[in-house]
Amino acid sequence: MPRVTDDEPVVDPILDAAPCGFVSFADDGSIRAANTTLLELLGLTRDELVGRRIESILNVGTRIFYQTHLFPLVKLHGRADEVFLLLRPASGDDIAMLANAVRRERGGETVTDCILIRVRERQKFEDALLRAKKIADEARAAADEQRHEVEAANEQLERQALELELSQQQLIEQAEELEAQSEELRAVNDELVQRSEELEHLRTVADEANRAKSVFLTMMSHELRTPLNAIGGYVQLLEMGIHGPVTEAQAEALGRITRGQRHLLRLINDVLNLARIESGRVEYDIKQCVLRDIVDAVLPLVEPQLQARKLRHEVSIPTGLAAHTDRDKLQQVLLNLLSNAAKFTGAGGLVSIVAFVDEHHPDRVCLRVTDTGTGIPADRLQYVFEPFVQVDDSRARRAEGTGLGLAISRDLARGMGGDLTATSEAGIGSTFTISLPRA
Ligand code: ADP
Repeated sequence: MPRVTDDEPVVDPILDAAPCGFVSFADDGSIRAANTTLLELLGLTRDELVGRRIESILNVGTRIFYQTHLFPLVKLHGRADEVFLLLRPASGDDIAMLANAVRRERGGETVTDCILIRVRERQKFEDALLRAKKIADEARAAADEQRHEVEAANEQLERQALELELSQQQLIEQAEELEAQSEELRAVNDELVQRSEELEHLRTVADEANRAKSVFLTMMSHELRTPLNAIGGYVQLLEMGIHGPVTEAQAEALGRITRGQRHLLRLINDVLNLARIESGRVEYDIKQCVLRDIVDAVLPLVEPQLQARKLRHEVSIPTGLAAHTDRDKLQQVLLNLLSNAAKFTGAGGLVSIVAFVDEHHPDRVCLRVTDTGTGIPADRLQYVFEPFVQVDDSRARRAEGTGLGLAISRDLARGMGGDLTATSEAGIGSTFTISLPRA
């Protein structure tokens, strides 16, 4: 082995051109020799390199590694294999190398010979490895993410399954409830069917009762009216003295019999009338009727009564005001109202008859009878249209009427498409209003 000096070739020609770097340095780190391959790699001349310290061609990290590991290792074992180093060339990037180092004695000193092989391919593999690792990491991260998503989806599915189970439970409960309700409905339906059967039966009974009532009324009309008329006739004969002279006391008794007979006759007629109206057997002959004509026809019938009780009366009816109504029946209603007004108004009182167009319903006309009589207490007013109701039920009053007049009158007014209503104040007077379709 030639001695290493500044002017001698450093390494033999084969090693000088070998496809790997070669450097030899002393224990103090100063470089003794280097081959051309390494000089070219570092971009230095031999003069520039030889004599420098080995650390100066290493990058910072490798320099520390050299001082703390590599050099102590070589010193201890005499060699180091496949140590990774990064060389620092004069210019450009660090160069990765694998180094095999051997410590030996040469030329009277201890040197370390070091073969340096480029690890370009290894670098490529390392890069590929790094890329693969990165891809693997990314894939792992993506897999983790997917796993999380799957876990989340799983959790959601579990929650949904739970909710489904709950709603299924609710549905079952609702179905049970519906079943119970339909059971109840079936029971109610059964009851309704039973009730309607009962009602049907009651209707049959009522129809039969109605038929019996008609038969009874017809019979009563015949069986009672005939003897009552006969009583009237016989009393008249007695009064006329046909059967001998009549004493004053007898005449008075006969007068009472006559009054009783007439009252009974009126009662029977009223009952028959009411029954006929209520059973819908009354026919109405609806025509256009001028109200003034109706009043003019009725007034003469009550005038004797009004005069007897010293009552004034006044009439106010617009000319030509007419109603669609049944003339005779309206006259009957008006006669009843005027007789009542005469009956229940004290001497000197006033009975007025007015007619007008209903201000709230212009297609209706009203015929109104007002008196300044006894009036009807508020708590009795609603009952006066009920059959047989008389506010003053003293005997004398009862004898004067039947309590059927207003019931009949209202039924007739309604039967003609109208109505009969009353307002009154006890001690002040009463007002009865017939309303009818306007003609
Ligand atoms: P009647 O006059 O035959 O008793 P109504 O049905 O016509 O029967 O009248 C029922 C009752 O209404 C009467 O008994 C009377 O008490 C009361 N009434 C009717 N019209 C008047 C009126 N103009 N003033 C006071 N009370 C009345």
